Amino acid sequence: MKIAVCASEAFPFCKTGGLADVVGALSTFLSRNEMVESLVLFLPKYRDIGKTAFSPKKISGSFVVPVADRFENANLYLVEWGRVKVYLIDNPRYFDRPGLYRSESGEFSDNDERFIFFQRAVLEGCKFIDFKPDIIFCHDWQAGLIPAYLRTLYNIDAFFAKTKTAFTIHNIAYQGMFAKDTFIKAGFSWFDFTPDKLEYYGGINFMKAGINYANIITTVSPTYAIEITQNPQISRGLEGVLNYRKKDLYGILNGIDTEVWDPATDTFIYRGYDVKTFWRGKPFCKKKFQQEMGLKQDKNTILAGCVSRLDWQKGIDIIADVIPDFMGRMQFVVLGSGDKGLSERLKKISDENRESFVFVNDFNEELAHKIYASSDIFLMPSRFEPCGLSQMISSRYGSVAVVNSVGGLKDTINYYPDDLMKSNGFVFDGATASNLKSMLGHIISVYGSKEIWNNLIRNAMKTDFSWSNSVLQYTKLFSDLLK
Ligand code: ADP
Repeated sequence: MKIAVCASEAFPFCKTGGLADVVGALSTFLSRNEMVESLVLFLPKYRDIGKTAFSPKKISGSFVVPVADRFENANLYLVEWGRVKVYLIDNPRYFDRPGLYRSESGEFSDNDERFIFFQRAVLEGCKFIDFKPDIIFCHDWQAGLIPAYLRTLYNIDAFFAKTKTAFTIHNIAYQGMFAKDTFIKAGFSWFDFTPDKLEYYGGINFMKAGINYANIITTVSPTYAIEITQNPQISRGLEGVLNYRKKDLYGILNGIDTEVWDPATDTFIYRGYDVKTFWRGKPFCKKKFQQEMGLKQDKNTILAGCVSRLDWQKGIDIIADVIPDFMGRMQFVVLGSGDKGLSERLKKISDENRESFVFVNDFNEELAHKIYASSDIFLMPSRFEPCGLSQMISSRYGSVAVVNSVGGLKDTINYYPDDLMKSNGFVFDGATASNLKSMLGHIISVYGSKEIWNNLIRNAMKTDFSWSNSVLQYTKLFSDLLK
């Protein structure tokens, strides 16, 4: 089968969060599957993409894409990335600026146009490079209109006559909702401006479009697939349309790229280690890290790490609530960027407790790797979590995950309070400061037993978080769809 993947970010080209990790890794591993004849990945050509290790080659010629009442020019750049052909869609007006979706002062006001342009350029781009996809694999709201275009404006286009679409929901909290004007800019007919099609409370919702029109819908963990159909606080208004499409909705757990995230070969960390040598490698990393970050040098105090977007979803405020109670008994390091109020609060707590708590307000790949390797436990008290990658990455680095029992966290971290020897992490029920506090108290008592603790690390490091199983599920779904 021929697959065109369409997303707004993919590691290692551009990344703001887990979406990028997933799209990058899933494209790679799908492209290596024997059922996949060829796979192209379309991304916007953001300003910084050309500055990475890749040298995109410009494809000669260009094409135009209608947006609002104009025609916008599109150029394509190609990066040959293993078996994946990455096509970067260039239009300086939309993508030659710092940041992917926002600036310091907030979301870009033309995000609707930027991603209308991008999505139509994917369809026109397929024709331009003469790539007739069997499947267009669309990710999150920035690609949600593509299934709708194929069933409306493009439904008589012979080029796509056999093309099917799969739409993946990575995080339903971000839906791409815009006013009526955007519907007009997108070029749809008024005939489709009804609640059962594209209209959403008088405007347009790109994610709803994806859910409504895609041949199949997937999301990133089995538990989240249930939550988004049953819990309106999580589905944020889309439970109706999701229930309508329930028989075509599949929860497939994300994996991590175990080649990128491998403590044995990681060049960012102070010393490599694997499941047999972690007892030597991790204490070394912890010591160096404490030194580098100005934390008190102490191998017996638990170092708790956190690498996250600073957002209500992630419950970082809950971590901030409990930190003062554990000063002197634990150490904390939080790396994160996002919410300003939260980062100011974390900075204040860290300034007051410099020897026990470091807060780094940044997006920093290298430091993230160091935290995963150096910390004893990894905190993820998310209020909701579609899948979550950080708990899988931390587990692979032997930093034992401490998570709230939601979404993909529930599906990846196994905690048996009565049988820690079988557990690979700690799970508490409900994202509250008191739940996190009592779990941390419990963890301090468990940490004293080397045998149990080392076994927890071993279980965490040995858990299979690779993409193998999920890629098989995707290819099976796709081939069933093409039958
Ligand atoms: P999200 O909801 O943000 O996608 P995930 O757990 O699915 O959360 O994925 C987060 C990814 O982003 C992980 O690879 C994590 O290491 C990375 N990440 C998050 N915040 C930062 C940061 N401040 N610096 C570096 N990497 C980060």
